Amino acid sequence: MNSKHQQVTLIGAGLSGPLLAILLRQRGFAVEIYERRADRRKVRVSAGRSINLAISTRGIHALRQAGLWDRMQGIIVPMKGRMMHSVTAELTFQPYGKNESEVINSISRAELNLALVNAAEEHGAAIHFNQRCVGYDLRSHSLRLRDEETRAEWTKEAGVVIACDGSASSIRTEMLKMNRFDFSQQHLGHGYKELTIPAGALGEHQLETNALHIWPRGNLMLIALPNIDGTFACILFLPFEGADSFASLSAPQRVIEFFRDRFPDALRLMPGLAENYLANPTGAMVTIKCSPWHMEGKALLLGDAAHAIVPFFGQGINCGFEDGTVLIQLLDRYNADWEGVFSEFERERKVNTDAIADMAVENFVEMRDRVGDSRFLLRKKVELMLEEQFPKRFVPKYSMVTFHRVPYSVAFARGVVQDQILAQLCDSIRRVEELDWKKAEQLIERDLPPLELPQ
Ligand SMILES: Cc1cc2nc3c(=O)[nH]c(=O)nc-3n(C[C@H](O)[C@H](O)[C@H](O)COP(=O)(O)OP(=O)(O)OC[C@H]3O[C@@H](n4cnc5c(N)ncnc54)[C@H](O)[C@@H]3O)c2cc1C
Repeated sequence: MNSKHQQVTLIGAGLSGPLLAILLRQRGFAVEIYERRADRRKVRVSAGRSINLAISTRGIHALRQAGLWDRMQGIIVPMKGRMMHSVTAELTFQPYGKNESEVINSISRAELNLALVNAAEEHGAAIHFNQRCVGYDLRSHSLRLRDEETRAEWTKEAGVVIACDGSASSIRTEMLKMNRFDFSQQHLGHGYKELTIPAGALGEHQLETNALHIWPRGNLMLIALPNIDGTFACILFLPFEGADSFASLSAPQRVIEFFRDRFPDALRLMPGLAENYLANPTGAMVTIKCSPWHMEGKALLLGDAAHAIVPFFGQGINCGFEDGTVLIQLLDRYNADWEGVFSEFERERKVNTDAIADMAVENFVEMRDRVGDSRFLLRKKVELMLEEQFPKRFVPKYSMVTFHRVPYSVAFARGVVQDQILAQLCDSIRRVEELDWKKAEQLIERDLPPLELPQ
């Protein structure tokens, strides 16, 4: 069928949904989106989960394809590295990349959502708010929708449905009824809570603006990402249960004492801490893997609906946006043969989304536990020096994931080899000046073939 007249129905106008809608509209598809939430441009909604996101190269590439990256410049704050805060308020800065062009970008989820929804409508996508998908008939391929204001349910005959409805996807719930549908979900024992550091008296940031601030404390961690209005969006990560957990920190005074003990320099900047802490919900973090992602060229899972990951590599939506660009490339190649496109999409993507899911869990330990460790910092410095010397072969795993569009599975596999090389080079030295360059060259040339870096 000619794509110009074909209707695609998306479920979810969060982040991956409206971005995909724009890319589909650019190819002439008729696109409509059903979103369970109210239109926040018309209805005031509570701040709720308005955590900040770090957008990096994969996300930027997709936003550029949608013609949106230039527009984002007014709402992002570049972060050049991690600023670690010790218990005694000593600061250690560790750059993310090899130079100042390698930054990640802090953006408010709510602002990003708004920009995407506006742009999707400008491109001609029809977004229906307050419409919750409550079912999908696997035989007739019809959607069951519920109007959240009137509670009336109705049925829609849908051609092609793409589920962009996040980690609790309604379409995936229906697909669980399929024969031989594989599904796994793994929750972390830690949860998260959003907190705020307000702007200073003159609207200025009260901490270094262009950094992601981390208070690593072994089993727990606080992070802060800058906003354009001088505030910082903070996230506190704690175990759900046990000592120093969300369960044990329920009284306002206890929360203050806990911060005084663990994060004293942050506490000084958080006058509303106790109210903030008690008012905001505690969120859970989950890794979801499933397969197949599609059925009969009629329905496809995309973004968190197909592969929710924990947030510690800052890749969830970068990966969801990359899904959109890969899907569109395949559509261009297969000319709307949906069955072929969907199965090729899963074949190409799943190995990569599984890899970033595993790397994100690994990074949890790195962020909360290791970033303050002097041996870890030494390795990070050596990594950047090796990259400078051998740019075609040695690119740190963090950089392959964050500053390049190297497939995640390749970054994962090369990261394992690079870790072994780093162990051999760093375990016996205390300072970067002691690095054995001859050995480095031998190991790198032997174990790391040249790396192809997609533009
Ligand atoms: C604490 C935390 C920090 C994070 N930090 C980062 C980061 O720094 N960088 C990064 O790249 N990623 C980050 N992520 C991950 C990122 O938030 C997700 O990957 C991203 O939001 C997924 O986008 P999505 O569009 O697939 O799903 P969502 O953003 O969840 O959007 C789904 C949409 O579908 C709607 N919906 C749900 N069910 C239905 C239904 N039945 N019917 C109709 N509509 C429905 C929802 O209302 C929502 O609007 C973070 C996540 C968390 C929890």
